[in-house]
Amino acid sequence: MDPRLRPLSEQDFDLACIDIVVNTHLHADHCGGNHLFAGTPIYVQRRELDDARSEDGYTIRGWVEAPGVEYVPVDGEYELLPGLRLVPAPGHTRGMQMVVVETGGRPVIVGGDVAVWFGEFDEPPTEGRQRVLALDPELVWLTHEHEPWRPRTA
Ligand SMILES: [Zn+2]
Repeated sequence: MDPRLRPLSEQDFDLACIDIVVNTHLHADHCGGNHLFAGTPIYVQRRELDDARSEDGYTIRGWVEAPGVEYVPVDGEYELLPGLRLVPAPGHTRGMQMVVVETGGRPVIVGGDVAVWFGEFDEPPTEGRQRVLALDPELVWLTHEHEPWRPRTA
């Protein structure tokens, strides 16, 4: 939908220094780089992994199952590191998850496609978007928007 003009493998950081990868979900545009992280644990909800492996037309299965890719299936909420949680956010997909970063104040959310664009926050909320609102985040990063979404404050 919005391809990067410079592939991740050609950007100015060392892929080998990345210890953990999180897939919010396994649509092709979110897992096509997984092959770059062969041997690095990739955290994904078990539900998402099961759907990607079993449902036709869900994704590009060869990208999900690229050689050397090692998934760590997660069942529900999971504390990845202190202050860094994986939180299920079903809606866009059944196994969708988001990353919640504690900041000491209101959390920051890396939301993947919990909303594909800002307007989705004005539509009837999915379970995932309800969870976003319940967390009262400072801001929410979405994959397909270039600026973070900030909830209106009263
Ligand atoms: Zn998606």
